[in-house]
Amino acid sequence: MPSSPPPPLNPGHEAVAAAMTYTQHYPRRVEAVRRALPYLFLGVYPTLGVIATLHGSWFGILAIYGVVEISAILAERFLPFVRPAAHNRWRNRVTDIIYLVTSPLLLLALQQTVVPWMGNLRHSLLGDTAYWATGLPTAVQVALVLIGMEFTYYWAHRLSHSNNIFWRSHRIHHSPDNVDWLMGWRIHWLNEALHLVARFVPVILLGVPTPVVALALVIVNVHSMFPHINADVHSARLLTKVVNTPEMHRWHHVVDPAAAGNYASTFMLWDQVFGTYRSPILPPTTEFGIEPEELKNVPPSWSQQILSPLRKNAADRYSKAGRP
Ligand SMILES: [Zn+2]
Ligand SMILES: [Zn+2]
Repeated sequence: MPSSPPPPLNPGHEAVAAAMTYTQHYPRRVEAVRRALPYLFLGVYPTLGVIATLHGSWFGILAIYGVVEISAILAERFLPFVRPAAHNRWRNRVTDIIYLVTSPLLLLALQQTVVPWMGNLRHSLLGDTAYWATGLPTAVQVALVLIGMEFTYYWAHRLSHSNNIFWRSHRIHHSPDNVDWLMGWRIHWLNEALHLVARFVPVILLGVPTPVVALALVIVNVHSMFPHINADVHSARLLTKVVNTPEMHRWHHVVDPAAAGNYASTFMLWDQVFGTYRSPILPPTTEFGIEPEELKNVPPSWSQQILSPLRKNAADRYSKAGRP
């Protein structure tokens, strides 16, 4: 990590953010809950996920995902960052609810097909000789897998923003004008495939055994719902430098392309290294989503969205010019 922070992409925006403080003042007990919630999502739940994985308990892993989702819903209900507008209430979120059901199934299907295919490809190219990481302690192997996964995910995510072909599917994730737990599942299958392949490149290169991959994946997956929650949590400053929290990921969903940054999935490491790390303090008036011109390219229904990246249209030029 560099000793001094990298220059901001947009100095003006950074200055505005630095001048802001948390404007909401909560009673002491509520403030204590705000500060405790990040440790629950980032510490307690992933640890329980690791324990369940070490015991090989599928029931335990699924139960923890359920607890994370219930916690996210409760946090959004009782401690909202932004009060949801009428069009963003549960009953109006059919498209997001379809993604909620289909995205995990798609992820599972991709993992079952793409990962073995990548393993076979590696085997035919490199053979068994390069499985150097397997002699290391398990914790070190897990750490290497996490660092590697974050590196390739980071660049795949940046590619999703900078390349028109990949942006066509990724903009669907960015199209809502809200950031919350439910919209976090709005991920197009092509975008999911790109990010999944990217994540598994270091896994395949390291040649780590399946239990190590399972431990890394449970940490990533248990954490993955937290950054999108619409809850006014108060993560410690040090925490936001290291881990992706709601404060950090909201920056990523700001409409203004000049404010873009925080491409991380789990750890902020590569944003810090490559100069895309944004301040955790977000002006409360900031709008989320994509530019109105760009939004015209995203149809409202799930079935239309699934096909939309395959259609080329004139407004695509706008996205390439607009997003860093
Ligand atoms: Zn993005
Ligand atoms: Zn997001």
